[in-house]
Amino acid sequence: PPAIVWFRQDLRLADNPALRTAVDRGGPVIPLFVLEDADAGHRAPGGAGRWWLHGALAALAEALKTHGAQLVLRRGPADRVLTDVVRESGAGAVFWNRCYEPWRIARDTRIKRQLQDDGIEVDSFNAALLFEPWTVATGSGTPFKVYTPFWKAVRDREVPRPEQAPEHVPGRANVTTERLEDWGLRPTRPDWAGGLRDSWRPGEVAARERLSDFLDHGLADYGRLRDRPDRAATSRLSPHLHWGEIGPRQVWHATRHRIDQDDLGQAGWTFLGEVGWREFCHHLLYHWPSLPEENWRTAFDDFPWSNSEAHLKAWQAGRTGYPIVDAGMRELWHTGWMHNRVRMIVGSFLVKDLRLHWTAGEAWFWDTLVDADLANNAAGWQWIAGSGADAAPFFRIFNPVTQSEKFDPNGDYLRTWIPEIAALPDPYVHKPWEAPERVLQEAGVVLGGNYPRPLVDHAQARRDALAAFETIKKDQ
Ligand code: FAD
Repeated sequence: PPAIVWFRQDLRLADNPALRTAVDRGGPVIPLFVLEDADAGHRAPGGAGRWWLHGALAALAEALKTHGAQLVLRRGPADRVLTDVVRESGAGAVFWNRCYEPWRIARDTRIKRQLQDDGIEVDSFNAALLFEPWTVATGSGTPFKVYTPFWKAVRDREVPRPEQAPEHVPGRANVTTERLEDWGLRPTRPDWAGGLRDSWRPGEVAARERLSDFLDHGLADYGRLRDRPDRAATSRLSPHLHWGEIGPRQVWHATRHRIDQDDLGQAGWTFLGEVGWREFCHHLLYHWPSLPEENWRTAFDDFPWSNSEAHLKAWQAGRTGYPIVDAGMRELWHTGWMHNRVRMIVGSFLVKDLRLHWTAGEAWFWDTLVDADLANNAAGWQWIAGSGADAAPFFRIFNPVTQSEKFDPNGDYLRTWIPEIAALPDPYVHKPWEAPERVLQEAGVVLGGNYPRPLVDHAQARRDALAAFETIKKDQ
């Protein structure tokens, strides 16, 4: 009887143990993808994520076709779809690779039991992480709350070698599929995805090319340039990793190989350490499933948050009057991605300068990032807010001007994303409100006209944030 491979966030043929197991059984394979909106609730992918998903599924369907099988697409709930497809195909087995979102863990456990009760063979595998969260613990057997000891505990472990894609996936075309086009994952009216199309190519082939391009041209300078948003110095693998078009084991082994070959120990390990952050975020989410919704440090429940809609809208639109914040928010809107250093700057600004709750930032990122990932996004926001497990302390408040001068020293990033201030000379491009009227005029900048005045005064906002923090500090 056929075996069903239930694809989820593992949209690749290589290094895919569920697919490999199904192929090795020798019978026909039914690759299935279920649109899980009905199961995911408010954690269904946002706009940018859906755009990516469309491309990833088109690429996966094409790859499966050349290997001999047809991708079956169905809309959930997943339990009903699986029961239906088992019945329609007479499948005797269902395989999948594990995911770590709390709603999925609960749902998958239920589905596994249900299928097993029906006499179906079920097995699940690890394809998304180097190390399963439950295999990593402190000396006293508890989960890690701090990254450095977490990473020390695992970085020397043996990482299994990824397997090649199967040569042939024996398909069987007697199960009906929905049409990807009918799912409406891509925007039509208005079509806001032009910048995404220009910036990205979803799919397993593109992911592998991006990795090898980064190893060839980026890895050696990664340690030195990774904090510079004006340089394309990071791998940009995040959406590919999120959707599982490439797996961390593939990244790991290719990087280790390059480290040895080109003697890139320091830069190489700095990069692997970031892949380690991804592991750590998943470890946190697995052990603290409320991470995306609740303050990890409950003292923050009493923080006097602001609820200014106007401030939130200005932040989202990239119109705060602080160029580095606005550049980041516009990069995000246009490309579906933002440089990590700038994510931290805009995050600090939202939570500390505007005192808006980090969940408002998390929600916006969820909708607009092509790499929106429940674990990384929640952990990133709690880190920057100071409410997380291993977090930047609240009182460390990023100064948007000094950050900008330090990490975009020539203002290239600012000028790329904020054309209306591009003609301002240094140093004013980082702080237009300090420019003399004559300089503004020559550069065609009208503060409060074509570019906003600062939404808040950073020095005052910083004092207010610290005073607000004093009110909860005793509970920390
Ligand atoms: P590289 O520097 O090339 O790193 C390689 C890979 O390591 C990344 O692709 C990513 O998978 C992982 N990684 C790197 N930095 C981190 C980190 N700090 N935390 C977890 N994993 C990391 N990353 C997401 O993938 N999805 C998110 O939704 C997300 N939200 C974030 C929200 C905030 C507020 C912050 C501060 C960070 C967030 N990050 C998120 C982490 C990080 O910004 C991105 O992973 C990174 O910018 C992606 O670019 P890259 O692939 O070029 O990274």
